[in-house]
Amino acid sequence: MLKFFIMEALSENNDMSAFLGGKNNDKIRLSGLDKNELESLMEAFGEKKFRAGQVFSWLYVKNASSFDEMSDIKKELRQKLTECAVITDVKIKTKQISTDGTLKYLLEYKDGNTAECVLMRFDNRANLTACVSSQIGCAMGCKFCATGQRGIIRNLEPYEILEQILTIQRDTGLKVTNVVFMGQGEPFNNYKNVMRAIELINNCLTVGIRRITVSTCGIVPKIYDVSNEALVPTLAISLHAPNSELRAQIMPVEKRYKIDELKKALQFYTEKTGKRVTLEYVLIGKLTDTKECAAELAHFMKDLKCNVNLIPYNPVDIKESDLPDFKKPDKKDVMKFKYILEASGKKVTVRLERGADIDAACGQLKGKVEKG
Ligand code: SAH
Ligand code: SF4
Repeated sequence: MLKFFIMEALSENNDMSAFLGGKNNDKIRLSGLDKNELESLMEAFGEKKFRAGQVFSWLYVKNASSFDEMSDIKKELRQKLTECAVITDVKIKTKQISTDGTLKYLLEYKDGNTAECVLMRFDNRANLTACVSSQIGCAMGCKFCATGQRGIIRNLEPYEILEQILTIQRDTGLKVTNVVFMGQGEPFNNYKNVMRAIELINNCLTVGIRRITVSTCGIVPKIYDVSNEALVPTLAISLHAPNSELRAQIMPVEKRYKIDELKKALQFYTEKTGKRVTLEYVLIGKLTDTKECAAELAHFMKDLKCNVNLIPYNPVDIKESDLPDFKKPDKKDVMKFKYILEASGKKVTVRLERGADIDAACGQLKGKVEKG
């Protein structure tokens, strides 16, 4: 009866309807509610507003996974919560640990769909970086990427993105300090939900906006949009080729948004926000790792406020797909490429490969339970 009353009270408030799950007998999901929404919930429970602060802290600071843990909340309220609400409806399906300490979780959402998130620890740094997915699958079809071969299944909701970080925090007891949208999906094809997730990650989990990075393959109109937001994340751009012809061979998005338009949008972003962009560049052996490509990339970067992150191509399992048989680059070609770019005065990093033994490295996420 109490549950029915609360559902009715909350249904009147449009902002809350998303948390009711649709069916009348669904419990209210707390994960994803911000401070104001928790206050409305407490009021609907007939409780004082300050209780919202306690629940907020258990959810997002102390990473509680049950109401029993919420020891400073009076028993009567804990009972009401147990009756009417759940903390989350997302489950860990599998968890893998790499020899380098990287953790990969496969999460199962309410509708049975799955997506990965990855926790990377870098030695000698206190940072803990969560790599999150923004969609189930991806529509962009880049030729070197395992996710792209799945096609798009659906967008993730803001709480489903937030939950990836909360799951990591609940499971490890550690606080995530940095978030990168570099898992499955093209974040700017799910713009509204990603921006709301960023707001929640920033407000509820207190991850600074400068420590949140969105990686995009270059959806040009959304680069303009994000530049005008109140909370602007750092941008990483999957460039991967220094000219339109080569880029079109490996990234179908080039046919829609040309590299020159992309560059103009990036210049707008850096001027508007004062931030630097990171160019991501996959080095594919004998295709994108040549001296000529390096020189052309150096030229491209000249009038752009940017760093560049070189990513040696990670082989993906091509047996089941139509992917071309790309090769890893030779170490000496990686070094030569880096040297040519450095000579142009930009900061160049080579991305450390994390979690390749558990298929957690860039481009290896497919959202499936691996067979045997
Ligand atoms: N869709 C977004 C974000 C996710 S991909 C984007 O494309 O930017 C994260 C990064 O891994 C991107 O730069 C992507 O191009 C790169 N990547 C994809 N497949 C890869 C592979 N096989 N080897 C190395 N990097 C890969
Ligand atoms: Fe999608 Fe990014 Fe993979 Fe391209 S690289 S298919 S945009 S996830």
